[in-house]
Amino acid sequence: MRNIKIIILTIFSLTIASFGGCASNRINLVDNGTVTIERVNSKKMLISKVSVYQEGETLVIKGKVRRRFSSGIAAGGHVDIAVFDQEEKPIKNITKHYASRWVKHPHASSFTVRLPLILSQGSVVRVAHHSGAHHENQGI
Ligand SMILES: [Zn+2]
Repeated sequence: MRNIKIIILTIFSLTIASFGGCASNRINLVDNGTVTIERVNSKKMLISKVSVYQEGETLVIKGKVRRRFSSGIAAGGHVDIAVFDQEEKPIKNITKHYASRWVKHPHASSFTVRLPLILSQGSVVRVAHHSGAHHENQGI
């Protein structure tokens, strides 16, 4: 009986250890309902996927943009990410030029943003695509 307990404890601690690696404190804020994502697509590009994670005191926003139409000229540009608190006050605004990988993945490109932020329940992350360079008067 004692041995079984030790084995169970060992398995349990091994399980914790295996989660203790790089993915340890990563919490998916979209899955747990902390954050709502808003996407603003441009004429040429769609924001196809956005994930928001809390990794300790770092907020990680990952996303993908892809062409709205499979034919046509590849659209470069950038994404503007705005973070709002639960009272809809803007906390952070970032412009991120995504890495162009048109050769390998002609339809899609991805971006990752890391911010020293801890988001509370009811926050909103808005991701907008802009073609070309960012102009202040484009807003978000
Ligand atoms: Zn912009």
